[in-house]
Amino acid sequence: MIRIDFSLAIGLYIILTVCLVLVLWLVFDKKRSSESFTSEENFFWQCSICTYVYVDSKHNTLSQCPRCGSYNKREE
Ligand SMILES: [Zn+2]
Repeated sequence: MIRIDFSLAIGLYIILTVCLVLVLWLVFDKKRSSESFTSEENFFWQCSICTYVYVDSKHNTLSQCPRCGSYNKREE
């Protein structure tokens, strides 16, 4: 009887540990996906001359507006 209770305790401990790891993994995965979404948001540029909003993923600090051709600087 004691041996069965002990194996049951071990089983419960393993199940709880696996559940904890799964929950932590899901939380960190969700956090990572939200971070990648904000980095994609950095690809959006708004022209300071004609206020045209466009996507430019190639440039980080300086980008040319496709509508009026003026250069826009990334504001921190
Ligand atoms: Zn423009």
